Amino acid sequence: ASTWNSVPAGGVTEAFNKDTNPLKMSLGVGAYRDDKGKPYVLNCVKKAEKIVFEQNLNKEYLPITGLAEFQKLSAELAFGKDSGPLNAGQIVTCQSLSGTGALRIGGQFLSRFFPGTKKIYVPNPTWGNHHAIFKDSGLETGLYRYFDKKTNGLDISGMIEDLKSFPAGSIILLHACAHNPTGVDPTPDQWADISSVCKSKGHFIFFDMAYQGFASGDATRDAFALRHFVERDGHQVMLAQSFAKNLGLYGERIGNFSLITDSASEAARVASQVKIVVRPMYSNPPSTGARIVKEILSNEQLRSEWHTEVAGMAKRIHAMRSALRNGLAQHGSKHNWEHITSQIGMFCYTGISPEQVGRLAKEFSIYLTKDGRISIAGINPGNVDYLAKSLHEVTK
Ligand code: PMP
Repeated sequence: ASTWNSVPAGGVTEAFNKDTNPLKMSLGVGAYRDDKGKPYVLNCVKKAEKIVFEQNLNKEYLPITGLAEFQKLSAELAFGKDSGPLNAGQIVTCQSLSGTGALRIGGQFLSRFFPGTKKIYVPNPTWGNHHAIFKDSGLETGLYRYFDKKTNGLDISGMIEDLKSFPAGSIILLHACAHNPTGVDPTPDQWADISSVCKSKGHFIFFDMAYQGFASGDATRDAFALRHFVERDGHQVMLAQSFAKNLGLYGERIGNFSLITDSASEAARVASQVKIVVRPMYSNPPSTGARIVKEILSNEQLRSEWHTEVAGMAKRIHAMRSALRNGLAQHGSKHNWEHITSQIGMFCYTGISPEQVGRLAKEFSIYLTKDGRISIAGINPGNVDYLAKSLHEVTK
């Protein structure tokens, strides 16, 4: 027998690919699809690519920490142009291999230099890769309460209670917006409470911001939590940014890592250590994605086109949420599906059981992850009614 004879097939995608039902639906993907179910390249990206191409740039290595102008624009997008720490030169930045790479740099940096306990608390549930990224970085992971199964909403009291109960000076990971997988975000008031509690406990905050602009359609609004923590409460946060979703640059692997320090001189010390973290992992990052993002964020016309397009994606996602909820009602579902429209971002945490997920796959050729998470991006006007009908069938 072959050495790999007993390796089982993994993932939802394999089962989907094998299925011959013409009505089959793939709701596991974490990437945006247009109204026809096709991958979408933003117009501002196409234009920026053309500009970059015509600049006839060389293919020399970027510095270890990446393209400086990109890093600056990226930090401005997140923290805001008028951010205190940004303008005081207290923020260390490093271009990263998308959001994943930024989380990994941060994890590695914490594991090497965080003075307290090397344990990071993540929400329950969280994006599955968080556990793996932080474990491979040498950190232990812990959980705080987040999702309330009874309401399909936020368990704010459980979350606050947990944050208060952790040892002072713990590391806390927060999803800045469009929580994955639940689509449930705190309200601005709840964010203010979370920030105050973390401040009074001296917790260290690591923000994962993979969906800025994609969540509400407005990049400034989606940065509310991050800016509130930094500007009002003076948290010296770490931040992982991704341009995969909001610019549709998935395969370009473009993101940014940043870390707020106390002073410009501390920033210089920290920056030198970030380089030492990055160098043995991949030497230096790729240039194309950074050049594209730099072009868009620094060119007023392209930037405004981006704002329109990202709002368009958010709008389509929201329209599909409404269509699914209406469809369920029309097919006679008696359940409360309010959370489908109140949740935000690419995903909807339906609250259905693993058995019901299994029935959707077996009887209706609709594939999603076992936790009942639907990627709204996989829904379009052509298949939403079939999904509503099938979802109603398995939840009757
Ligand atoms: N964090 C969260 C919460 C995510 O959902 C994702 C994308 N699935 C990422 C980080 C990172 O993705 P990428 O590395 O493609 O930017």
